[in-house]
Amino acid sequence: MEEKVLIAKYGEVAMRGNNFAMFISQLVATIRKNLREEGEFYVVKEQGRLVIESRGGEMDYDRLIPKVEPIFGLVGLCPGVKTIDQSIETLCQVSLHHMQELFPTEKISFKVVAKRANKKYPLTSQEVATEVGGYLLERMPNLSVDVHHPDIILRVELRNDAYVYSKVIPTFGGLPMGSSGKAISLLSGGIDSPVATWMMAKRGVAVEGVYFHSPPYTSEWAKQKVEDLAERLSCFTGEFRLHVVPFTEVQLYLLDHVPHDKLTIFLKRAMMRTAQKIAEREKALALITGDSVGQVSSQTLQGLHAINAAVGGIPVLRPLAGMDKQEIVDMARKIGTFDISIRPYEDCCTIFVAKHPETRPKTSVIERIESRLTELDALLEKALEEAECIVKG
Ligand code: ATP
Ligand code: MG
Repeated sequence: MEEKVLIAKYGEVAMRGNNFAMFISQLVATIRKNLREEGEFYVVKEQGRLVIESRGGEMDYDRLIPKVEPIFGLVGLCPGVKTIDQSIETLCQVSLHHMQELFPTEKISFKVVAKRANKKYPLTSQEVATEVGGYLLERMPNLSVDVHHPDIILRVELRNDAYVYSKVIPTFGGLPMGSSGKAISLLSGGIDSPVATWMMAKRGVAVEGVYFHSPPYTSEWAKQKVEDLAERLSCFTGEFRLHVVPFTEVQLYLLDHVPHDKLTIFLKRAMMRTAQKIAEREKALALITGDSVGQVSSQTLQGLHAINAAVGGIPVLRPLAGMDKQEIVDMARKIGTFDISIRPYEDCCTIFVAKHPETRPKTSVIERIESRLTELDALLEKALEEAECIVKG
């Protein structure tokens, strides 16, 4: 009996023992999560790949592939056929059905590559390839053999079960989640920070988000947007935790107590310090921001210096530092966060935005002013205590 499957290949990551087992179970969990709304599926472990099979329903590749494609750690997806019966006759028939379905009339060149994990199989890999190739050639006049530069390679793999496929859709790759430790990402509703978060997650960093929410100055829509971005990011990473920190009091206090043209710098410092506290609490080893050098007034090197000085020890990863806006936008489109980020919402108030913001703040001046803000620490503590954690995915 043959059955349509989706084969998900993972990278040959140098991992042993427990880590490897964790990586695989995390991949399985994320696949299951992403396919939750598409029906019931088995995810079967084979060497170097996971095989997705429907539990009785249809395999609708057009729906399934976009759901599995984003998952970090996977390097390619192959729509294919599985058969439990591995006799050469069955392999030939299954291959024929597969090729007839994909290339019914189109003139194409091909070659067959066979692989046996089961070395007791009566034929060698080469013999399997020759048998299958000959069988197809006799029955499909639109096919020709080209062993050097074929249009397609038909792969016949004999493992616990046998698999036949001819298409490998490359995916993002990346390292498995958590293999590089944990970081806290400052996630706003903008275009940049989701991309920055995605880039670090791709490097295997387990990311949690933190969003500073200032109602009524930032609306519920703005918060919803960040939650939806977190949901989208969870398609790549599995579960995504978002800490929402109420920041209205901090913001109003700063508005009252610091020079207006420097307000953004103080506000960002307050955000960074709070994010660092969350990192300590969650045992995370770095912060992530969506800063891109020169993009806005607070992202000049002087601005970044003054902001960064608020958090001494912890590394702050800024993967977009050297990217142009257009590059970031292209990436946001590719990963499916752009449309969420540009969703319009009513920003109720602009009292926090200076007309002429300071572009070259002096860190020493900022620190001197901040040392006189006697109530700031207590307000930050309070904000941290009142933070809520939302789990997405
Ligand atoms: P983004 O597109 O990510 O909003 P931006 O270009 O608008 O970035 P800024 O508003 O200066 O730049 O913010 C710089 C970085 O500070 C953001 O990328 C994000 O990491 C962080 N940040 C800004 N506002 C918030 C917020 N309300 N909550 C969490 N992080 C924030
Ligand atoms: Mg922003």
